[in-house]
Amino acid sequence: MKGRIFEIREFTLHDGPGVRTTVFMKGCPLRCAWCHNPEGQSFETETMRSAAPGGSAPGADRTVGRDWTPEDLASELLKNADIMAQSGGGVTFSGGEPLAQCGFILETLPLLKAKGVDVAVETSGYVPLESYRAAIPQFDFVYQDVKLLDAAEFRRWTCGDVSVVLDNIAYLRESGVRFVFRVPLVPGVNDSPSDRAAFVEFARGCRMEFLPYNPAAGAKYPLLGRKFPLDGIPDAIR
Ligand code: SF4
Repeated sequence: MKGRIFEIREFTLHDGPGVRTTVFMKGCPLRCAWCHNPEGQSFETETMRSAAPGGSAPGADRTVGRDWTPEDLASELLKNADIMAQSGGGVTFSGGEPLAQCGFILETLPLLKAKGVDVAVETSGYVPLESYRAAIPQFDFVYQDVKLLDAAEFRRWTCGDVSVVLDNIAYLRESGVRFVFRVPLVPGVNDSPSDRAAFVEFARGCRMEFLPYNPAAGAKYPLLGRKFPLDGIPDAIR
């Protein structure tokens, strides 16, 4: 069993409590138009240009995506175990969609938890219910995306079926696992007053965070030879 990862970022501060290491798993079944990690979408390794230091011009080619065994990944992550423990931090699995590699996650988490490492996940919830039910209770904390609630709008902007996410969220609410809903606000897509009110109503009784739109969301697409799907769109549809 191996897992494919496109980045391991140390000393992150916004992916959970304390100082954390964030593991970006490669591959996602959704195609959100605003995705700022397009190199996390394909499950295949890819060639990507590096951004030149200090500028927008591309630099050298690099391969994105490396396969890890659970043992090798745990060993790498545990190098910072003392710092994470002292700060109340841990490891957060992100992506891409980390739960799309559920088997790998289920083999890796016990290796971290055996050493007392706090483990969190950032998920779109767009995975089969069996995967979600198997993985979610193994985490100490869950960041659950809520992108759009309307089925047609969800399909339009993510290419997915919102009922998959809503079914998983129904399970999450009953699971007893600590979680927070995260809503990435995207201008012209889901940030109207009525959209926001709907999100607040949906999350009633639960923790929820609105995440501001990342204006640099499209920066990596040219490095992959792709066009950013939102180019020119948000202003046009306001
Ligand atoms: S779920 Fe996340 S990683 Fe997947 S396409 Fe959407 S924003 Fe990108």
